Amino acid sequence: MTTISGHSYIAGEWVTPGGAAFYSLDPRDEAPGQGFRSCEKMEVDRALTAAERAYTHMRTLDGRTIAAFLKAVADEIEALGDTLIEVCDRETALGPVRLAGERGRTTGQLRAFADIAAQGEWVQASIDTAMPDRQPLPKSDLRRMLRPVGPVAVFGASNFPLAFSVAGGDTASALAAGNPVIVKGHPSHPATSELVAQAFDRAIVSTGFPAGCFSLLQSAGHEAGVELARHPGLQAIGFTGSLAGGRALMDIAAARPRPIPVFAEMGSVNPVFLGPETLARTGEAIATGLSGSVCMGTGQFCTSPGLAIMVADEVFEGHMRRAMDAAPRGYLLNPGIRDALIQGLDRLTNTDGVEWLNETDFDANGMSPPNAVFRVSGDAFLAERRLAEEVFGPVTLLVACRDQEQMLHIATSLDGNLTGAIHADDDPGLSDRLLPALEDRVGRIIFNGYPTGVEVCPSQQHGGPFPAASDAASTSVGTDAILRFARFIAYQDAPQELLPVALRDANPLGIHRRLNGRLTRKPV
Ligand code: NAP
Repeated sequence: MTTISGHSYIAGEWVTPGGAAFYSLDPRDEAPGQGFRSCEKMEVDRALTAAERAYTHMRTLDGRTIAAFLKAVADEIEALGDTLIEVCDRETALGPVRLAGERGRTTGQLRAFADIAAQGEWVQASIDTAMPDRQPLPKSDLRRMLRPVGPVAVFGASNFPLAFSVAGGDTASALAAGNPVIVKGHPSHPATSELVAQAFDRAIVSTGFPAGCFSLLQSAGHEAGVELARHPGLQAIGFTGSLAGGRALMDIAAARPRPIPVFAEMGSVNPVFLGPETLARTGEAIATGLSGSVCMGTGQFCTSPGLAIMVADEVFEGHMRRAMDAAPRGYLLNPGIRDALIQGLDRLTNTDGVEWLNETDFDANGMSPPNAVFRVSGDAFLAERRLAEEVFGPVTLLVACRDQEQMLHIATSLDGNLTGAIHADDDPGLSDRLLPALEDRVGRIIFNGYPTGVEVCPSQQHGGPFPAASDAASTSVGTDAILRFARFIAYQDAPQELLPVALRDANPLGIHRRLNGRLTRKPV
């Protein structure tokens, strides 16, 4: 029988931190469950000291050893069985079906990164052999590959308690690259986090992996996270969550005596552009698809479409009003998200020209919100920049433009986003004109579809220009997420025995390498 202790997990030991108490809450009735205590500077120091020690060992490990560990973690998460789903549902109200799917995504990611580590080609090995007789100067032997960076802090989001949390994509990719990970547990699902840390503990014991490779610091309030981000032993941060939280960590990391990179995936409004002729022909179907995407998971997805830009169309507004009222309601993840949603709805209702088109009633404690659709004219939207900010929850704003020119103007006025979608098959020329504006502003462009439901595969791009992400060049979903937690090192005229195995002449790993500019598996 699995029990929850309320402890944090630091380098193979369960510890009781000295900080303030907080509780696991059921969002349906805010009933408190298991108590926890927040970690403080002492626990952060302890986790970092252990991580730095573990790193000296981890950097020498081959990819297959790391892969065996990641697979063991995936197996242990599955072995938690229904308990994990029940505990997680109690803390998030996301429901067993969604959570079982998210567990599959989490273990799938762990195994995908295990395969990447075992196969070893992710290091992008490149060898340029020496030319001692080159004139006027001889050329040295140069060999370059990606190497781990050292201890990485992971801050997960509340809305993905498994796939973007303790054993989520940031943790899996950082470990796969050979880095120790310290997770700052999200206060919205501490019991779920502890169960997953128990899975890590069992995998560490069964594989003999260095204990300092993983720690979970439970905390509510910013203290432990700020200490972690400031700690001189930390080398990088992976963050998924709000713009305010991500920006705060970016600023802390930049203000350190030695700044470190922060890979933050933050909020997004994911604009959907709807051509007038396309709406005239398929408006009802688009309203069904769009409202389904807005309301999925009670709107608590980073890819939820919070803006729909169209030429004014009252018939479509009617379709949207009905579709949003008909969509099932769910629960918000925590009282903080409820309060932020109420503030966001108040901001929309109090903005000149914005009209709430449908039902407005919350349940008694406000945790089950209405599925809200608003309307504003293109002119009023352009006059108030805050209308383009995320309101996290089942909310979308229809921007009714004068004409297609105004749609294009709005496209070029938007900030960075994770995604942008275009429905314009019946509007000749519109997609071509929207495309460059979206390429400059989003990470993923969707045609005739909706942004929720992020496929996890090598061709995925989950990121985008600020404020969607802190580093537009990287992705936090898909196997290339590993590249965030590694850096290139070049070895010049290095003796064979000092080179990492991937760069040795014989190519003992049998990986593809760029040898004098050509991709090959041949030895040097
Ligand atoms: P959050 O409030 O930013 O919290 C994320 C984590 O950061 C928590 O552990 C939080 O813990 C910590 N934190 C927040 N502010 C901090 C600060 N100033 N200093 C230090 N630590 C801080 O986000 P959330 O409520 O979990 O998630 C909802 C948001 O995430 C939405 O805006 C959503 O769009 C976004 N999201 C984005 C993606 C994506 O991939 N882009 C995915 C999922 C969610 P403490 O409060 O204990 O400090």
